[in-house]
Amino acid sequence: MPDQAILVVEGDITKQEVEAVVNAANTSLLGGGGVDGAIHRAAGPELLAECRTLQGCATGDAKLTRGYRLPASWIIHTVGPVWHGGAQHEDELLARCYRRSLALATKTGIRTLAFPAISTGVYGFPLERATRIAVREVRAFLEENYSLERVLFVCFDRNTRDCYQKVLAEC
Ligand code: ADP
Repeated sequence: MPDQAILVVEGDITKQEVEAVVNAANTSLLGGGGVDGAIHRAAGPELLAECRTLQGCATGDAKLTRGYRLPASWIIHTVGPVWHGGAQHEDELLARCYRRSLALATKTGIRTLAFPAISTGVYGFPLERATRIAVREVRAFLEENYSLERVLFVCFDRNTRDCYQKVLAEC
């Protein structure tokens, strides 16, 4: 059996000692608020310079940059869906963010990866629904891909952490 772990951490994703962090970016990839702003501030201006060369990112897709001043060597920028009530493919688009980010990580040889709670901030995706998708996709991916050793769900507040712990404990 491969030795793989899914962990829930309460804290700041910019401080995590992992090979890659996932950024909940917007389609411009040129920075924003929330976790995106925190990652750009912590990584430094070189990050924005590299992002300018990428020509944006579609919702549900993911793109790679270096981590610059972060402890992480890499940043995987993914664009979650804005919540519009659930009938505009939000579930599938969010699932795709996780799948594409995980696939990009393994392709790059990354073994340890940290996710924020994509789309659950300004983008308004209901937290528990998003958490179920995140947990389902990461678990399914790890079953098929043994190169990833550790996946962290980094929760910025206690409410988010409690939700992840509850969903992970359910099945
Ligand atoms: P989105 O636009 O995808 O909804 P947000 O950045 O608004 O993205 O929120 C996504 C999640 O990231 C929220 O749970 C928010 O509290 C959290 N968050 C904000 N800053 C950080 C940070 N520094 N580290 C980890 N999570 C963060």
